[in-house]
Amino acid sequence: MEVLTRNEMDNRFKWDLTRLFASDEAWEQEYTAIGELSAAFAQRAGTLNVKERILEAFNAYFDMMRRFETLYAYAMMRQNEDTSVSLYQAMNDRAMSLGSRVMASAAFLVPELLALPEGTLEGFGADPDFSDYSRFIEDILRTKAHTLSKEEEQILAMAGEALSTSDQASEMLRSLDLQLGTVRNESGERVQLTDAGFILFLESSNRTVRRTAFRKMMDGYAAMGNTFAALYAGQVKADIFASRVRHYESSRAASMYADEVPESVYDSLITAVHEGIDTLNAYLELRRKKIGVPRLHMYDLYYGNEQGFEIHPDIEESFDLFLKAVAPLGEDYVRDASRALQERWIDVYENRGKRSGAYSCGSAYGTTPYVLLNHKNNYDGLSTLCHEMGHAMHSFYSNSSQPYPKADYSIFVAEVASTTNEILLNEYLRREYRDDRAAQAALVGNLLEHFRTTVFRQTLFAEFELRAHRLAESGESLTMEQLSQMYLETVKTYYGKVCTVDDCVASEWMRIPHFYSPFYVYKYATSFCAAISLARNILSGDPEKVARYRAFLRSGSSLPPIEELRNAGVDLSTPEPVTEALDYFAELVYEYQNLLN
Ligand SMILES: [Zn+2]
Repeated sequence: MEVLTRNEMDNRFKWDLTRLFASDEAWEQEYTAIGELSAAFAQRAGTLNVKERILEAFNAYFDMMRRFETLYAYAMMRQNEDTSVSLYQAMNDRAMSLGSRVMASAAFLVPELLALPEGTLEGFGADPDFSDYSRFIEDILRTKAHTLSKEEEQILAMAGEALSTSDQASEMLRSLDLQLGTVRNESGERVQLTDAGFILFLESSNRTVRRTAFRKMMDGYAAMGNTFAALYAGQVKADIFASRVRHYESSRAASMYADEVPESVYDSLITAVHEGIDTLNAYLELRRKKIGVPRLHMYDLYYGNEQGFEIHPDIEESFDLFLKAVAPLGEDYVRDASRALQERWIDVYENRGKRSGAYSCGSAYGTTPYVLLNHKNNYDGLSTLCHEMGHAMHSFYSNSSQPYPKADYSIFVAEVASTTNEILLNEYLRREYRDDRAAQAALVGNLLEHFRTTVFRQTLFAEFELRAHRLAESGESLTMEQLSQMYLETVKTYYGKVCTVDDCVASEWMRIPHFYSPFYVYKYATSFCAAISLARNILSGDPEKVARYRAFLRSGSSLPPIEELRNAGVDLSTPEPVTEALDYFAELVYEYQNLLN
């Protein structure tokens, strides 16, 4: 199965980025214009002493940021289409360095606002003329203790680009330079092993195929292990640098402060999930019996989920199923979402050089959201579509309901809408196939897998990155041996009771791009728990509950994330949502056992 080039792909299934810029030339003009805006903005330094000028500066700042975000989104998405095209590689690099210039030109803004006479900023926060900027102002006041002098902020802004090298280099290594070789598939053909295609091997009913692909993948990464360790150590050092220079107690404290989430949420997540490890292993034992192996290995975990529920929807069929699954959210939601395929918001299929994985980009305010997929015609592909469309519709509603400064929802709530959609899909299919025992088993099995990969796996990652950061914070250096050993131990804690954790698993951390967004993954786990609760609310059919959820989708970043979720109907400042979600997991394991018998 040869991977097609970008040009060979059907245009209908490529996203239409001309809504951002009609051409690369138009992008170039905007690039120049934003450069000029940023030079002009820098001239405002030292002038912020009366309300009118301050208001003008806010208008100019957010206008510049909005335009820059669209510029950057275009370059990034073009580059992601085919990472080997040097033109877009260069545009992306230039956009990033323009971003550093933009940030540097605005570095005076916050320190100068903080230097205003006591109470002035608080006054603006309550002034209707500044209503679009009230959250921005609240944020400045909140982070006052962690904001440095004007000169220091300028230096930090200039260092931003250099400090993101680890992230970029690891992405290059994973998507371009890493040679994973070929693996024989079930029919004995040699097939190129890629990150995007890896899952297909792991779903193979032929255990040799699964084992060989898994080993080859892990060994491929291990061969670059010292480089990956140096890159990750660089990331961790950058995180620690950023936290220390701003007087946070730790890199995690800095990350979570930015999210407006108390650190106790992270610790209680790990504690609560550890209490569910026995249930996880009870589930793994059912899986072991189901696939009929004497010992379960990590490479067996993705096999056997869809037996009895083989669906192969192409993108159009998948899209129809998605629309049916989200029907409980309301007719207008379905109508709005149905635009995505028609208007080509989505880049559907894998092509040579395309970025792996999937994401939604809602940062081009005033246009439409965009979704990158590497769609496979199976349940997983369908589920990913629902997930990314959840993000996209959250952006769509927030962008159309909030002014730009309040539109971009916080990372802490970012995974809620996506996960809620995935659960709605699962529940929809379970209703559709209610008389089909095999399908029920497969769907409950899928939800259990979703639990495993989101709550357990992401909490495992969260634990790993916390340990790595703590180790580095205590002055130890992060070597490949140390990181891999630590990873292996953590995997054994979670899976070791039922699963044989082979030594090669130690390299798996190198594959995880999210480690370059520190303390991000715990949010998948907390979001999943919130989504379980919200999806049950939505399916209860209570219009009041649905309305609360829909209001959440429109809320952008207009409130602190914990409050937005509380208004939507779930309180993550308490451990309850996690504990309740794990109780639900235990119920599902019980149901699964009955269905398998
Ligand atoms: Zn997501």
